[in-house]
Order: sequence, then C-alpha cells, then structure tokens
Amino acid sequence: MAEIFSEWLEKLKSKADIAEVVSHYVSLQERGSRKWACCPFHHEKTPSFCLYEQTQSYHCFGCGAGGDAISFVQEIEHTDFMGAIKILADKYRMPVPDFTKNDGNANLKKHKDKLFEMMRDTAGYFHQNLISDAGKPARDYLAKRGLSMQTATIFGLGYSIGRNQLVAYLTAKGYSKENMQEAGLVDMSQSGNAVDTMAGRLIVPIINNLKQVVAFGGRVLDDSLPKYKNTRETVLFNKSKEIFGQHSVKKLKLETAVKELIVVEGYMDVISLFQSGVKNAIASMGTSLTQEQAKLIKRYVDKVVICYDGDGAGQKATMRGLDILYNQGLEVRVVSLPEKLDPDEYVRKYGKESYLKLLVEAKPLFEHKLNILASGYDLSSPQDKGKYAVEAMKIVKSLEDPAMIDAYIEYVANKTGLGKDTLRRQLDVSEAAIAAVPREQVKLGASAFDRAVRYVLYGLFGGVENATCDTDLSQYIVDAKQKALYDLYRAKKDSGNNTAEELLTQEESNAEVRAVLDEGSKIGDDIAKVYFDDCVKKIVKEGNKKRKRALTHAIDSENDEEARFIMMSQLAQNNMKKH
Ligand SMILES: [Zn+2]
Repeated sequence: MAEIFSEWLEKLKSKADIAEVVSHYVSLQERGSRKWACCPFHHEKTPSFCLYEQTQSYHCFGCGAGGDAISFVQEIEHTDFMGAIKILADKYRMPVPDFTKNDGNANLKKHKDKLFEMMRDTAGYFHQNLISDAGKPARDYLAKRGLSMQTATIFGLGYSIGRNQLVAYLTAKGYSKENMQEAGLVDMSQSGNAVDTMAGRLIVPIINNLKQVVAFGGRVLDDSLPKYKNTRETVLFNKSKEIFGQHSVKKLKLETAVKELIVVEGYMDVISLFQSGVKNAIASMGTSLTQEQAKLIKRYVDKVVICYDGDGAGQKATMRGLDILYNQGLEVRVVSLPEKLDPDEYVRKYGKESYLKLLVEAKPLFEHKLNILASGYDLSSPQDKGKYAVEAMKIVKSLEDPAMIDAYIEYVANKTGLGKDTLRRQLDVSEAAIAAVPREQVKLGASAFDRAVRYVLYGLFGGVENATCDTDLSQYIVDAKQKALYDLYRAKKDSGNNTAEELLTQEESNAEVRAVLDEGSKIGDDIAKVYFDDCVKKIVKEGNKKRKRALTHAIDSENDEEARFIMMSQLAQNNMKKH
C-alpha cells in the first residue's frame, strides 16, 4: 500500500527536531528557557536567532528570518522544498518513497545514485593521480599558475594521466562501460574502445548544490586546443543549470555575511580568486548566463558584480547574460579589467587589495551599457553624437524606474552635451506620460496597505454584501481619518445600523469620508467579497510586519545587552502566541 506523501512528511517532520537540525549548522546557547544562536542568515555578534521548540520553529529578531526545520534547511542549503526534504530524509535515514505514480522513477533515481557514486570515485581517482608521482606535469602546471596544493585539495582538482587508466580503474570498481558513457566520462574510439575524454588534462570537478559531482572541466597543460573542455551534457549534468563555485560560496555563507557575488567567466578565475582571499566568486558554464543560473544566484544574494575578461569579444553575449540577471531582480554592476587581463591574471599581477578596489568602483549595469555603446562613436562629431543619442535612449527606455530614467537622461546629456529635453523626446513617450508614471507608481507602491484599509472600510460600511471581520483591526490602522471611521464602525456595529447611509447620516458624514468609501465601488460585485477578505488578511499581515519592524528596530538601537535580551524575550513571547 503506497504511503501518502503528507503522512510521510509528517513522520519526517516529527523526526527532524528543530534544535537538532539547527545545531548541525550553528552552535546553540541556552538563555532563559530558550535556545539562541547567532543568526546564520545575517551577520551578527550577539545571538538574536531564537528557537521555539514547542512549535518546532525559529525566528531571528535581527533579520526577520523564520520558519520550520524544512524552511531552515531550504534557506541554509540554498535549495528548494524538495531539496530540503531530501537532505533531511537522508539525515534521518528515511528513504524518500516514490510518490510519483510508477516505479520507473524509483529505478531512475537508483540508477542516477549509482552514476553519482561513480562520479565521486572518478574525482577521487583524478585527485590521487595529481598527488602521485605521475601527477608531476599537472603539479608543475599548477605551480606555474601560482596555485598551491592546498587550493587544489579544496577544489578537489585532479589529473587524468592517459586514455585508458580511468576506464581500467572504474571497471575494476564494478562500473560498466555503459555507465561511463552515460555519465560522459569516456568517448568510444574507432576500434570500439572506451577512452577517457579528459586524457592528459588538469581536472576540475563541477559540484552541484547537493555536493554531488555532476561533471568535470579539463584544462590542457600546454597551449594545445581546445584549452578547456567540459563533460558533455548528461542525465546528471545540465550546464545551463549549474554554477561553478556554488559549493564554496555556500560554505562561506555559513562563516560570514555574503552580500554580493562576483561572476567571472571561468573556473580557473574562481579558483585563483579564492586562493588570493576573494572567496565569493562564481562562474557560469558558458559565456552567457541563463535564466536558471540567474535564479540560482538570486537564492544567495541580491547583488552581483560582473567581472569578465577584458577582451571585447563576446560582449554582446555578455550583455544578454547581464540583462537576464537584471530581470531577475538582481542589482548588477560591471567591472572592466585593464590591460585585457582576466581576473586570474589581474589578481596575480596586482594582488587582492587592488582587485577589491576595482570591485568597489564597478559601474552600474546601465552606465556600463552606455559606455560600451559610446566606445563605438566619435562623440566630438555632431553626427555621431546624434546617432549615439538615439541608440542610448533605446537603452534608457528599457529601464522601468522613472527616477533611473531621469538619472540616465542626465548622464547621456552630460556625455554628449545635448539638452535633456531633446533626449527625452527620443524616448518616444510624451512628457505627460512620463510625469504621470512616477506619481502613480509611488502611490501604488506606498499605499497597497492603504488601499486595503480603504476597501475594508468600504466593505464594512455596507459596500460588500456579507462582509464581516472578526479581527480587531484598530491596532493596525494608523491613518487618523481611517481610524476614526473604523472606530465609528466598531462603536455602532452592535446597534444594528451598519450601512454607510445609516452610519453617516450623522455629523461624521463629510466629503472626505465619502471619498474613501466611493473608491471601493470600483471592484466588480462578483469578486468583492473575495477581495474584501483578502484585504483584511493583507492588513493583518502587513500590520504585523510593520510592528515587528518597529520592535526589531528598538531592539537594534538598544545598547545595553541585558535590556536588549529582555526585549527579545518579550518579543519571543509575543511571537509564541501567534505560532
Ligand atoms: Zn538573522
């Protein structure tokens, strides 16, 4: 009889004790009746991360992180729900049953596990080669690049001695040639023999976020071509979904606050930067970043600095990748290295400090775009200036934030000496439309909460059929006029008068109040009730968030540690009731 997923999940949850799960990553201190820790999700020196064992949940008073054991693992391992479940299931020895109808999937999983095991064995084998006598050429190569054996060990670097050794090794371990072929480790020679695809190369294992080796990168030791080679795409490896360096960034995030990732072109850049002390670099598996990679990056940080090789080639492809990052909501800045150096060369030549200084000076994405564009024109010629302006405004137009558009119009104006009005006309949008956007956006952005309150008032005053609200919202409503209306409703609710007309026939009735109420009628009757309930929920949720922020802020600005601790405990008590 197949087990139901929800039942299995409950079993897992009951095993995965929050304190035990968390203590695997951070050390817990007992204070009062609760366990506290320095929060793994933001950088701090005194603990504000608190466990609620009764409800098996956690909350951080510093950054607001909170949830249960599963969401904790999701956050800290930078994985999704199923990923977190797999990690926990592994830890508590509860094999994940196959809940997806047929046995085919279970078999496939078993099969993939076997391939992963083979990949790990292969990585181990390559690494052994590197440190053995036979590995001297590769060690010499590393030394030439200034990479230490310690770094080689951290990244699990290896060496493939020749065409046949790997096959012999894996065969002796019981793996079939079909397995090797499927995982992309071997090519078939014309005579039908399996040969190591990476023969003679320095090996860089590519490790996914579950610490599994999914593929290998190989670099030749001399100047022959191709310089770099990756394992072809296989059932284990989809290069558009992997990021090199994830593994070490994840580790770094446990030790310190990582706000920004540096995106470089190749894994040798990541490794070289790491050795020089710049540990927050990652690389994509090709030149242009994909949507999936951008999403993955967004799981770790909100900001990226792009540091690609200094040569102009492939800049168009690079731009596409940058737009993908930008569209994913990441703040993107770009650094250009001088003398056509790549990050590896630069950091070896000028050192870490100089490199970090360049990163600080990195230009925002759009400034970078406008500069690259400008390099194709002679801006001292009036004709070129005009052409540049047209193209530049196309770039500016793709911005969404009106304030940014303004800023970049100014930037282009300064660069070309053309008037701002002239440039604005290039945007092909009327002045009026531009002027209207910011106001409307500010209003929408700032008042989603406000609009919810207005609609709830409208509903309560008879505007929405059967609208009721048992929650006392008075603590959340801050606007004086709205508050007065709400209090009026509360006061008269029980008297039986509950339509706007009845309630407002008195002296409270005035134009402003009616304006608030009239706005609500714009929603269609069919969805009015649903929208009303949603608005109530929004008020409570947003209101709580606001209050929590205020309290957190008060805690933050409290210098006395004892007082701070008391406040946190009070807040913890408060949260407890809600959970
Ligand atoms: Zn925190």
